[in-house]
Amino acid sequence: MQRRSFLKSATAATLVASLPRPAFSAARDQMRIAFGGISIECSTYSRIRARTEDFNVLTGDALASSARFGFLKKYPANFMPTVVASATPGGPVDRATYDAIKADFLKRLSAMLPLDGLYLPMHGAMFVDGMQDAEGDWMESARRVVGPRCLLSASYDLHGNVSPRVIDNIDMFSAFRTAPHIDREETMQRACNMLVHCLSENVRPTLVWAPIPVLMPGERSSTEWQPGKRLWAQLPKLNEQPGVLDVSLLVGYVWADEPRATACAVVTGIAPATQKKIAISLAQQYWDARKEFQFGTETGTIDECIDRAMKATTHPAILADSGDNPTGGGTSDRAEVLEELLRYKVQNTVFAGITDRPATDACYSAGVGATLPLSIGATLDPLGSKPVKVRAKVLFLLPAPTPKEREAVVQIDGVTLVLTGRRRPYHDIADFTRLGLQPKSFKLIVVKSGYLSPELAPLANPSLMALSDGAINQDIVHLPANKYRAPSYPFIAGLTFVPKAILSERHAT
Ligand SMILES: [Zn+2]
Repeated sequence: MQRRSFLKSATAATLVASLPRPAFSAARDQMRIAFGGISIECSTYSRIRARTEDFNVLTGDALASSARFGFLKKYPANFMPTVVASATPGGPVDRATYDAIKADFLKRLSAMLPLDGLYLPMHGAMFVDGMQDAEGDWMESARRVVGPRCLLSASYDLHGNVSPRVIDNIDMFSAFRTAPHIDREETMQRACNMLVHCLSENVRPTLVWAPIPVLMPGERSSTEWQPGKRLWAQLPKLNEQPGVLDVSLLVGYVWADEPRATACAVVTGIAPATQKKIAISLAQQYWDARKEFQFGTETGTIDECIDRAMKATTHPAILADSGDNPTGGGTSDRAEVLEELLRYKVQNTVFAGITDRPATDACYSAGVGATLPLSIGATLDPLGSKPVKVRAKVLFLLPAPTPKEREAVVQIDGVTLVLTGRRRPYHDIADFTRLGLQPKSFKLIVVKSGYLSPELAPLANPSLMALSDGAINQDIVHLPANKYRAPSYPFIAGLTFVPKAILSERHAT
């Protein structure tokens, strides 16, 4: 609601091209706004593919009543559901899967015309087989359907990638300002606040962006420590400048071999000169800080981290298997860490978890209390790693409506291991307790994660990140097959940079 006051106080000269007074002005609840999007983070270094069954696709009433979009009900507008598809980060999206979801989205969008606005809840780091700039494709396709007058507002993860096609097809943009992400709903609300208020006030904003040729893993650019902390902390204040609707600063997604993969600043507003100043300042600050970005925790090889954890006099130590983290695009089926834990003969250790559908199913067939031989790991990507052969005792089987939702807890010597039928993280305390596990009671907790989640981080004593191999290997300068990436730090030595602010092509329309 605070936006409205500044929009009202903005002088006529600062207002960019206004729309003709729309028909909904007399009755705001008649504002016609559609919403729909697709969210996934795709490592192009992964050999697995995201297919239809990997997406949670919500449409119609199920989407309208979903908790994630409950906040839309507070607006004096009619938000109409199209399609929202989301999946756990992983490999590229299979082309036919993307085409089918997009076709459904566009069909539903067409049926809702005419539209005053469209809200696009996106992630920003999607990669579709045989396509560059997948979000740009989604937005351009939506724009073609809704026409040039409709206002488009998008929300993004700060690990998303932006492109000219993205900027030139939308009117408003807002990205997370925290990593780990604790402002998901706030960001979605910022995107929708702007949209509803611009429609209410008959204002047409524009976008200015400044690409920054710096790429790094999210594990180095958390907003919890410097320099991320100070860079992102200034955004709310910058957002208060007259004529500015939103200020976003994005890390980008490094594990996508695409020309658009880069950090950037994006500013939405009705005062292009101020927006340009902010975008250039942020780009310069980010560039100047590029060498300061470091891992926020102790790191080492898998062996070094296990050794450190076992010698710790405090507990629980938490060891993150960072190269195979499913929330960053890792496959989550690798068993190297398990192999090392067993070789080290660790005791009192819980490992949650490894995705292995055949091993999980075998545990369900054997039943609680049974001891059975298992081959664990490398079931999703047999070329990526090797399985570990063990004898395991089944401790617990989670009641599951479908086989892929199964989770089994087994004991292998001193390791209590969680096996899961589908790729998923174990980043919340409840992920452990619902399996009968009390994380605090273990000497060592192993998770497939990058920086630790807000729930696990306070528990870690010490926190250790293993720089392990996988689809999101943190050793980014040695990533193979970088065919398309634009010259950027730290890939090109001696790179120079002068920030440039680019105005959306929509400004002229
Ligand atoms: Zn993210």
